Amino acid sequence: MLDVKFKLLPGHTSERSWLEPAPLSVIYWNVTYACNYHCTICFADAGAGLPDELSTVEALRLVDHAADCGVKDIIISGGEPFARPDLVEILARMGQRGVTARVATNGSLIDADLLKRLRDDTEVTSFQVSIDCLDPELYATLHGTEPAMLGHVLRTLRLMQQNGFHTTVSTRLAPATLPGMPGLMDRALQEGWSTLTVHVPVHTRRAEGAFAQDADSLSALEPVFEHFARLPGRWLVETYIPWAQYHPLMVRLARKIRIVHRGCRAGRDRLAVHPDGTISPCVCMDVPQARLGNVRRDDLADLFENSPLCQLLRHPLEHGLCEDCPHVLTCGGGCRAAAVALTGRFGGQDLSCPVQQMRAAVSEAAGRGQ
Ligand code: SF4
Ligand code: SF4
Repeated sequence: MLDVKFKLLPGHTSERSWLEPAPLSVIYWNVTYACNYHCTICFADAGAGLPDELSTVEALRLVDHAADCGVKDIIISGGEPFARPDLVEILARMGQRGVTARVATNGSLIDADLLKRLRDDTEVTSFQVSIDCLDPELYATLHGTEPAMLGHVLRTLRLMQQNGFHTTVSTRLAPATLPGMPGLMDRALQEGWSTLTVHVPVHTRRAEGAFAQDADSLSALEPVFEHFARLPGRWLVETYIPWAQYHPLMVRLARKIRIVHRGCRAGRDRLAVHPDGTISPCVCMDVPQARLGNVRRDDLADLFENSPLCQLLRHPLEHGLCEDCPHVLTCGGGCRAAAVALTGRFGGQDLSCPVQQMRAAVSEAAGRGQ
């Protein structure tokens, strides 16, 4: 994901280079595309679910296979994961196999009994709850639900905390969500939600209403960064955008807030699994050009080691990515999900990169001057 994480409370961060070779250890798993909400911005275009999603038996087999391959952590997302009636069974199997779970959810299908089962029977460590705003009417419009659901979700967040789960909230960058982000951040601080994560859209599936892929998303977030800088006790910002470290705003803000650039781990220590078992390097790459195989027949460890797309992600220069950019060895060649979404080619240019945009503007100006 192209995330910016505003970390309000001290916790864990890693400054290890994200480009270092690492074994497969994380799976990002969209367990279903079924969802009881209908968000205007949904990177998964969720709703009814796919006709051929993994059965319970296949999902449990995937957990066992991932554990056998050395996977230690699975990020569960959707659709709405709890729209799967067998999710607790899947999470329990993960716990039995020593695999921790982090769950991204809209929070609407969770109650006190379910949280107790999750606390007692699984190794769920954290929840990330999607809240695009704190105004009930706008919440209903953006999430495609009833205004009263906002109150339910806020109560659920408190129950998560009372049950000892690490809780964070997330929102999606869009013109409709941007004005409410400082207020959401203040509320997060009051309630003890440790992080506000802003998802920058990668234009897969249903992202209408979001910022254009090649818009300058980090500059759009400047008022949110400035608000964060003014908060007492705030901790740090993590970016998960490969070229963010070269954005002029990040360079300027680094003088007043601590910013850790974590880059892109797709194909470097993780793979993504889609509801029908399709495997790709990143969950934002749900396009034919990025398909590595399917868990119904393929071996995760083998695809991670040997697939040409993972090789390209780990060795960008050898594969001709951004070969004329001086930053390629520290950027890794940008976001491949954005590249494939915008150019149709896995090895295409990440057109959302500001360095790329500045270089294009300079050469255009030079061309006009000739
Ligand atoms: S041009 Fe390529 S390598 Fe250079 S900063 Fe942009 S995405 Fe990264
Ligand atoms: S390819 Fe990498 S940078 Fe792009 S969305 Fe996926 S994880 Fe994020």
